[in-house]
Amino acid sequence: MEQGRSQQLFEQAQRVIPGGVNSPVRSFRAVEGTPPFIARGAGAHVWDVDGNEYIDYLGSWGPLALGHAHPAVVEAVQRAAADGTSFGAPVEQEVELAEMICAALPSVELVRLVNSGTEACMTALRLARAYTGRSKIVKFAGNYHGHADGLLVAAGSGALTHGIPTSAGVPESYAAETLIATFNDIASVEGLFEAWPEDIAAVIVEPIAGNMGVVPPADGFLEGLRQVTETRGALLIFDEVITGFRVAYGGAQTLFGITPDITTMGKIIGGGLPVGAYGGRNEVMQQVAPLGPMYQAGTLSGNPLAVAAGVATLTELQRPGVYEQLESTGIRLIDGVNAAFARAEVPSTVNRVASMFTGFFNAGPVSALAEVEQSDTAAYGRYMHALLERGVYIAPSQFEAGFVSIAHTDADIDRTIVAVGDALAALG
Ligand code: PMP
Repeated sequence: MEQGRSQQLFEQAQRVIPGGVNSPVRSFRAVEGTPPFIARGAGAHVWDVDGNEYIDYLGSWGPLALGHAHPAVVEAVQRAAADGTSFGAPVEQEVELAEMICAALPSVELVRLVNSGTEACMTALRLARAYTGRSKIVKFAGNYHGHADGLLVAAGSGALTHGIPTSAGVPESYAAETLIATFNDIASVEGLFEAWPEDIAAVIVEPIAGNMGVVPPADGFLEGLRQVTETRGALLIFDEVITGFRVAYGGAQTLFGITPDITTMGKIIGGGLPVGAYGGRNEVMQQVAPLGPMYQAGTLSGNPLAVAAGVATLTELQRPGVYEQLESTGIRLIDGVNAAFARAEVPSTVNRVASMFTGFFNAGPVSALAEVEQSDTAAYGRYMHALLERGVYIAPSQFEAGFVSIAHTDADIDRTIVAVGDALAALG
């Protein structure tokens, strides 16, 4: 595989950007090697600067449910850009996106648009604290909610991959406000409420964990969270940054029929441009400035480019059959991958919910962080490189989700399954 241009760019990048990347998850440190620099994408495919083509399962880490450069999104962004990129004053399109979000998510009556999932989750905590007058937060080890200080405690995703789940630079006094529970273990949450009955403002959870690899909620886990938070006067925050508009148009809360108090979103609602959002029921959102005393703002929030991409994306996702197609594409991929691993006699467990999945190098079951961590990450790294050489791009970390889009064709999936078989054979 030719990598000369990527290598050259990576060397240049490392001279001016920490680690050569603007987000650690893009780094190949955990799996070694040089990340391909991507030149362009179309549908389910991307091409790097050396001309190598890949079937892409990163999907920009979740936003691209329609695939790359979907014509409706490109056209919407171009049209919006021609009329000006930012005004710092209200625009019509942001109302449209907010209306679409409120219509889609049963728990969201009012929504505020921001610029990233990080901002959304950071603000959701502030909102929960403002509403309850309490200071502590419960989060789950291995869940990732962006890089706000109080959430970089026992975090997943790149923080887990690079061995820094609790970041340097977070004051201990502040980290102490974040209590850590065990995903899929309701007793661990109840124990924290026993210890801090009057202090917990909110429990924040990825309703389907994606940032320690995909781990679905155990039966009754989300119901248990709903119940214990309600009983104890705390708010339940669903981080639907990945799952919103992905596992169902109405997100995980619709899939599982649970109503959180606050929902955070990002990724798909921006169609590949920087957008995040947090929303909830009217009474809670009344805290948000200028209605209430909880301050949050943004120069570029709701800017016409980002919201145009979001509206175009959600409009396409409303077409009949889209989620059925995502589901059947996911099934086709995972059935084929499972069969290839079985043929190669490599112990593995594939967790999948709708169009999000992770193949663990682990005989399984993988239903908790402790089990995730038993995966053979070195084997994963070799496998990931063997796939890359065969034109298939998966995350450069075992602890991440992969995504299929509506642009992945049966032919793409079948080519991928062949590549998986060949990669496993080559690794012996
Ligand atoms: N929450 C979840 C569940 C995420 O997966 C991510 C990003 N991977 C975030 C929050 C943070 O979003 P962003 O990277 O847009 O700040």
